[in-house]
Amino acid sequence: MQIAIDGPAGSGKSTIAKLVASQLGFIYCDTGAMYRTATVMAHRLGLDYGDEAAIMTHLKDLEITFKPTPEGQLVFMDGVDVTHAIREPEATNNVSQVSALPQVREEMVARQRQIAATSDIVMDGRDIGTTVLPNADLKIFMVASVAERAKRRYKENVAKGIETPLDVLADEIEARDRKDSTRAVSPLREAADAIRIDSSAMTIEAEVATILKLVAEKR
Ligand code: C5P
Repeated sequence: MQIAIDGPAGSGKSTIAKLVASQLGFIYCDTGAMYRTATVMAHRLGLDYGDEAAIMTHLKDLEITFKPTPEGQLVFMDGVDVTHAIREPEATNNVSQVSALPQVREEMVARQRQIAATSDIVMDGRDIGTTVLPNADLKIFMVASVAERAKRRYKENVAKGIETPLDVLADEIEARDRKDSTRAVSPLREAADAIRIDSSAMTIEAEVATILKLVAEKR
């Protein structure tokens, strides 16, 4: 079974996707983490974020792996732990440029489909229901107000020791939404057959319960 969860930055997709996957015993694939890892790779190699050819030369052979732990999922780039680096502002503020490169998307989408072929899966991102898994059994499109999403990101950041003012986070979220929605190749878009959930005023438990009910209906 394939469950696709898409939505803009900070809509709560990954929190919900992780919980739904663990309750169902499915694997969870965080596609945003893959684009973020490509961004960290470009940064560490001193590549220009728009230099598609150079990024592709290195990305082709880059190993991106996930390791679930009780404290959360760890992300490795060629065996090096980049779990924290991929959430730093440098990656967050440049990932949309890297993820807009057509060859980067082609490479990542192929990898994501390979992962999905191995097991029942919950995959979250921007283009899962429209491009990566167009035949997914259930497609969810999660939305939330910019103010609510900025508040959530602020809380997450504080827990990680990252200090960014709320209004700056709101601006960053809006800028990322704009870039992700207007890029030429598979932009952030709601699939025609997706079910929209507005999480602005919902608890995490209620969101998870809503999705599990939809999964039960599909089964
Ligand atoms: O989900 P997250 O905020 O970690 O995603 C980081 C970035 O990766 C997004 O802003 C977007 O540019 C890119 N992305 C994408 N397609 C996906 C998942 C993420 O373009 N399926």
